[in-house]
Amino acid sequence: MGKVTLNQDDCISCAACTIVAPDHYDMDNENGKAQLTNGKCEDAICKQDMSEGEVDIHTEAAGSCPMSCIHVFGEDGKELS
Ligand code: SF4
Repeated sequence: MGKVTLNQDDCISCAACTIVAPDHYDMDNENGKAQLTNGKCEDAICKQDMSEGEVDIHTEAAGSCPMSCIHVFGEDGKELS
C-alpha cells in the first residue's frame, strides 16, 4: 500500500532500527550501514514496497532512528513518518 525508504548516507550504523524491527532491517555487510532486508539499495537509497500490515513496524523503526534516515509513505505518496 505504500513504501519505505532508508537513506544510507545519513546512517551512523547505530543499529537501532535492526533492534526495533529485526525482521525488516539488517546491516549491509559491504558498507556497514543499515538496509531494508526485503528492499533494494541504489546510490545509498534503499526502498521497499510495504503492505498495510507493515506500516506500524516501519513507523516504529523510523521513530527509533536518531538520524531520520527512514521515511514511510502511504499509497498516495504522502509521508506518514
Ligand atoms: S536507526 Fe538509523 S542511523 Fe541507526 S542503523 Fe538504523 S538507519 Fe542507521
